[in-house]
Amino acid sequence: MINLVLFGPPGAGKGTQAIFLARKFNLVHLSTGDLLRQEIAAQTDLGRIADEIISKGELVPDSIVIDMIESKLKKPKTTVGFIFDGFPRTVPQAQALDQLLRKHHSKVSVMLCLEVEKEELIDRLLKRGLTSGRCDDADAATIENRINVYNEKTAPIIRYYESQGKYHPIQGTGPIEEITSRLKETVENM
Ligand code: ADP
Repeated sequence: MINLVLFGPPGAGKGTQAIFLARKFNLVHLSTGDLLRQEIAAQTDLGRIADEIISKGELVPDSIVIDMIESKLKKPKTTVGFIFDGFPRTVPQAQALDQLLRKHHSKVSVMLCLEVEKEELIDRLLKRGLTSGRCDDADAATIENRINVYNEKTAPIIRYYESQGKYHPIQGTGPIEEITSRLKETVENM
């Protein structure tokens, strides 16, 4: 099995690139952000909790997203692997993912980290906010908070994967197709 963790700050382009990589390598795309937005749209209890947290730019509790991923991994689906987009976002989530995959006799193959400077991230998110309708893209203060939360709670995961020899930084700026090629090459050379 190939299991890719697509990593990077908010606005790095994980969602866009995950779709290309999923198609290219025939992987199931699992985005916790998308799953949470589906819960919000369906107005479930979980969706109501998530909505309040997401609109402030904070992280949803680990137990919620870990349960969501666990239930997706349980589904008996024949696949060559998964691409995790926006998950894990904390070290306990990374540890939980390792445990879950171990149960399925599998593991994370590689962590691809899209690197983009803060100014460009803010620019991209504000632009996306004009059309996405996402409340967390709507104002500069929420975006700033998401980037701070990333630096504080999410970036420490880099060391977690680095110590396992799985961390691959990828330049996340330039034409979208070029970024896709960089990611593809890294996976193919794995
Ligand atoms: P982006 O990468 O642009 O921030 P996502 O769609 O990945 O967008 O996530 C949107 C929001 O959903 C996050 O800011 C966070 O509040 C919540 N979220 C998504 N995935 C997780 C996760 N693994 N753990 C905690 N919260 C999450």
